[in-house]
Amino acid sequence: MQLLFIHADYIEYEAKSKTRVAEDIAAERRNERIEEPLVAFIAVERGDEQNPSYVVEKAADEALSISGQVKAERIVLYPYAHLSSELASPETSVEILRGLEEVLLARDVEVTRAPFGWYKSFTLRCKGHPLSELSRKITALEGADAKGAAAATAAVEQKSKALEAEEKAISHFFFTDGQGNLVGTDDFEFEDKDENLRKFFMYESEKRREVDRIPPHVELMKRLEIADYEPASDPGNMRFYPKGKFIKSLLEDYVRDSVADYGAVEVETPIMYSALHPSLKDYLERFPARQYSMLGKGGKPDLFLRFAACFGQFLMSSEMSISYKNLPLKVFELAPSFRKEKRGELVGLRRLRKFTMPDMHTLCRDMNEAVAEFEKQYGFCMHILSEIGFSPNDYEVALRFTKEFYDEGTNKALIDRLAGLAGKPVLIEQWDQRFFYFVLKFEFNFVDALGKASALSTVQIDVENAERYGIAYTDTDGARKRPIILHCSPSGAIERCIYALLEKAHLEKEAGILPMLPLWLSPTQLRLIPVAERHLDYIEGILPELKGRIRVDVDDRDETVSKKIRDAGREWVPYVAVVGDKEVESQTLNVTIRAESNKKQQKKAEMTASELEELIIAVAIKDKPFRPLPLSYKMSERAKFTG
Ligand SMILES: [Zn+2]
Repeated sequence: MQLLFIHADYIEYEAKSKTRVAEDIAAERRNERIEEPLVAFIAVERGDEQNPSYVVEKAADEALSISGQVKAERIVLYPYAHLSSELASPETSVEILRGLEEVLLARDVEVTRAPFGWYKSFTLRCKGHPLSELSRKITALEGADAKGAAAATAAVEQKSKALEAEEKAISHFFFTDGQGNLVGTDDFEFEDKDENLRKFFMYESEKRREVDRIPPHVELMKRLEIADYEPASDPGNMRFYPKGKFIKSLLEDYVRDSVADYGAVEVETPIMYSALHPSLKDYLERFPARQYSMLGKGGKPDLFLRFAACFGQFLMSSEMSISYKNLPLKVFELAPSFRKEKRGELVGLRRLRKFTMPDMHTLCRDMNEAVAEFEKQYGFCMHILSEIGFSPNDYEVALRFTKEFYDEGTNKALIDRLAGLAGKPVLIEQWDQRFFYFVLKFEFNFVDALGKASALSTVQIDVENAERYGIAYTDTDGARKRPIILHCSPSGAIERCIYALLEKAHLEKEAGILPMLPLWLSPTQLRLIPVAERHLDYIEGILPELKGRIRVDVDDRDETVSKKIRDAGREWVPYVAVVGDKEVESQTLNVTIRAESNKKQQKKAEMTASELEELIIAVAIKDKPFRPLPLSYKMSERAKFTG
């Protein structure tokens, strides 16, 4: 069930005409005005049919709790099918709505239920205070859990404990001042250059992840044929078109290669696990994530899709023979992962329910080695982001730790060094006690055009899970000891990197720069545009040399040259060369270089095909992975995927 609660000065509605599934109602109930209500807009969903009575009880609890908080005098139940794309049958919907009305009446609440299945006009005035608009989702699966029907009870209930811990953790925020001091957030003076840090801090303190406006990358991901929503899947599971799949694969290649260079070994572990496994059961309590659960053996909901590669790798490590000589031991997986994020938090590629997470774990001998490795990985992550296309100006650093960790040994100096590497003030969060499995973590957070922050790279020092999973190594004296474990995602989710690149391009456009993707990720790096058909021979002649090392295509469509140039611009093609008689005669190309052009003035250069090839390789590729063009090099042969 999807619920949208609005605390209103009043609501007035009129049932105008029946739909096919309208319930019969008395004439006097067709037109109502209710003062000072909490209006609950409700969509009853298909899943609710599994356990209607649970859904009714739970919805009544929510409505009562919110009306208590906002001190509403009465409740209006308003059927609103548009909140969901997976509606229950009309019979169940009416049954659940009536049930809800009865339960609320039985609890002495003044309640009005608007008729189901009618076209209604309505007017309402929302009060506009912070709690006046709230959304909730109730699922019947939780109901099965609440009744102790199965082990996923544990999963779901425990999950909420972990999420609760996150909400309850008492933390103090500071900023670094560049001189080794932590400054309270009230005393910190933001300069103009700290605007993104300010936005990041606002986002952190409000903890409001809901999407209220559509971020600019959503239009871009569609127009550039990168990715799109898939209406036939669960929200947050995207489809990727050839260009998007290509960009994603290239990013994956790059992260995988870099992590291998860094010394990690790659593994693959299952994406699905049983919540009944003793280590996992315990772990779920400690990891604040929302799982996709599903039916397992005997129809009991005891399986869930992994939200990270941690447990697969930990279970593997627990059975390995590890010597102190193997440490620090780095294990890596490019892990498709699933998190049932709240519906209202999903938008475009920023936050997904299915994503690809580069996930590396490092087993370290002791805390000293863990801290040293943490510092190295901090630098490693900065390097990875910079090679992908983000400078430290593009992200805000958060360092989070327990007070105990900070006060110990030389850790203050460590924090100071890490902040120094960012070259600008960073956000510090200090916890009074350890609520989580880690004592220190950092993230690099991208702040988008709407002021929303999301983490790219992150590393955590985990002091719990070696014990929980029984992971041990043999030390110099033959004793078996527990390692300290680092969790690292060098780039963050691959899809999120694409989101951040698109948002960054949008922000640059706003600042008067022609938007583009980094050259190494651009599906087409060079476009050749023949002035007339007779120039195609020359183009075909130079293509074989170019095609193996850079991505070049030919706009051989039956369009005007000016339209082709415009389209290349709309596609953000970095190098565009128009080929006419002059070029054929001089055996050169006259190239427009997007990165050095602006709206008013285009930067052009004349060079031979092989000079251009060397230039593109020097600027873009260097030691980056290369993949060939993901579509036919002839534009006339390409189908359109969007629009
Ligand atoms: Zn992990």
